[in-house]
Amino acid sequence: MTHSFFCANVLGDRARWARQRRFTVLQTEFDAGRLFIETWATWRADPQRCERLHFVAVWPLTTMVHPDVSTEQPTLSQMLIDAWPMHVTGMHRLEFENGRVVLTLAIGELESMLPKIWLRADAFYLRLSRVDAKLAYVAKALARVAGDQATLCAEAHPLLPQALKDAGFICDETPDGGYVKARFAPRWRVRRHEPPLALAIENGNAPPSAEFSKDAAAAFPSQTPRHAIVIGAGLAGCAITERLASRGWRVSLIERHDDLAHDASGNPAGVFHPIVWRDDSIAARLTRAGFLYALHRWSELERPGHTLNRSDRGLLQIADTTEDAHAIASAIKRFGLPASYVVAVDEHEATRLAGQPVARPGWFFAHGGWISPAAICAAQCEAAGDLLTIHFGTEVARIDRENGTWTAFDTSGRALAQAPVLILANAGDAQRLAVLHGLPTRGVRGQLTLLNSSPLDGLRVPIVGDGYAVPLGAHRTLTGATYDIDGIDTQIQPAGHTENLERVAMMLPALVGFEPTPETLEGRVAFRSVTSDRMPMIGALADETAARADAARLSGAWPLDLPRRPGLYGAFAFGSRGLVWSTLAAELIAAQVEGEPWPIERELAEAIDPARFLLRALRQGEFS
Ligand SMILES: Cc1cc2nc3c(=O)[nH]c(=O)nc-3n(C[C@H](O)[C@H](O)[C@H](O)COP(=O)(O)OP(=O)(O)OC[C@H]3O[C@@H](n4cnc5c(N)ncnc54)[C@H](O)[C@@H]3O)c2cc1C
Repeated sequence: MTHSFFCANVLGDRARWARQRRFTVLQTEFDAGRLFIETWATWRADPQRCERLHFVAVWPLTTMVHPDVSTEQPTLSQMLIDAWPMHVTGMHRLEFENGRVVLTLAIGELESMLPKIWLRADAFYLRLSRVDAKLAYVAKALARVAGDQATLCAEAHPLLPQALKDAGFICDETPDGGYVKARFAPRWRVRRHEPPLALAIENGNAPPSAEFSKDAAAAFPSQTPRHAIVIGAGLAGCAITERLASRGWRVSLIERHDDLAHDASGNPAGVFHPIVWRDDSIAARLTRAGFLYALHRWSELERPGHTLNRSDRGLLQIADTTEDAHAIASAIKRFGLPASYVVAVDEHEATRLAGQPVARPGWFFAHGGWISPAAICAAQCEAAGDLLTIHFGTEVARIDRENGTWTAFDTSGRALAQAPVLILANAGDAQRLAVLHGLPTRGVRGQLTLLNSSPLDGLRVPIVGDGYAVPLGAHRTLTGATYDIDGIDTQIQPAGHTENLERVAMMLPALVGFEPTPETLEGRVAFRSVTSDRMPMIGALADETAARADAARLSGAWPLDLPRRPGLYGAFAFGSRGLVWSTLAAELIAAQVEGEPWPIERELAEAIDPARFLLRALRQGEFS
């Protein structure tokens, strides 16, 4: 099938994306970028184009590594080549045209990837080379994510019309019979859950017709007051501020301190790297997604001149044992992880990279490193520009929703801001404001130690393992960090310094015997917020009162069955990984608010769903 056929038949009817807030195309097999480029070029040339074009494509890991792109659009081709992601499984989001054209590549096998992609498609482009035997399965998977009247275009196949019909599509005649054209118009219910929609705003801004479908509601974007309240100006809150502002949202950011990045995000530096473990666990996949997306967004912030104080020589992880080092080395090989992502290193190579002897072998992340959290926060708020209003020195005591509008109140009961969307990005205090079942987060005290002139002065890259050491330049090395669950002492403790140095000495023998008087050392104390499963809380918050009242029916519920509190989202409990979680969290929430394709697989989003503890309680019959 020619791409022009797709563009003429599926996109040709421009009225479908004209004036729309978003338009989403799903391609079942990425063709090295040709259709994406053509769709992008069509979008560029159309003065009536939609505000945001999402193009999502599945791409098997086993196929080529570089885009083979059309030469008819050399400028766009080059932009795609420049943005090309690392070749690792999972979803990769690439943004062009200031985020107005978004390509999400789902790298993995079609059969396993399709059920994990969560979006509402306006158009499908189905290539049949890999789906021959699985037509019925693929048609059903497409029906799960099809918007009303979504169009589909595919090469003709004798079994395809029936498979599409069974899934709720209506096939149209095509002039020469070489193609199948179809539309999603089911006459009966073909799916358990509706695919994602933009948040319906209920404060009298409905479109003119009283009988508008949910799709139609999403088609009147100008009616939606794009205004959100964000509580907390650390890594979580500043990232969500930037991601919403990039979509044209006004943000009222409320922070109890007088500046950005004060609490956990006020550390002078933090390390960032994904987890690589013996299996490709949910945590490994999530940190991979968060790490790669953060790298992409940080570069996008740097492009117009924002300064992010960060290292660029990579990061070395030292294995806890030699056996672990071997196991990880074989896992890296087994998963086919590219050297640009991670490479196993023996003791000799690790010593060379570190610039001083290390105790054991490990693995090296060429794009890992250290960064200043405060610099990220400042850049994100600057990028939000005039769309951002900051209320510093203001503590939110309570939140409430009435007539479709959230209000944040201060301690004297004064309304601070009102908006249809409110995001809790206030770490350990979020569960209080949201009144969450069973108080799922706890505080973990952490103490850092700053060394001035030490045996670690020659360290070339950050070292992580059981503790970390970060070379900050000018003979300064940051080491850390202690991990005291429920610790509340805000004062620096000499014992914490001793603990930090002992841990680092187990990785970097140069520190053995270095015993400065702990009382003379500089340091910093801050508090992490963690959950019992050590996963962050990211996404729409559940309506716990409604769920409890319906506990019997929800005892076998899936996450999408749970009632949610309209417009209320959370991005908190980032534990020791705020740098890896915060940007991805912000993009996921912005996508959920806007009804855009999610940037990660559904099962990953469910692993960080703030409603997961409630879901477990419902399943265990705690409220019956
Ligand atoms: C010692 C230590 C070392 C760490 N090292 C690393 C590291 O190397 N790499 C890494 O990725 N992560 C590291 N972390 C974790 C990282 O710092 C956190 O995950 C991250 O900063 C959390 O960001 P946040 O925005 O969720 O929370 P915070 O930075 O705590 O921000 C929350 C904000 O909300 C505000 N707030 C709270 N309640 C209210 C309210 N009611 N009204 C108004 N404002 C409110 C607070 O004042 C605060 O500014 C470390 C943490 C510690 C403690």
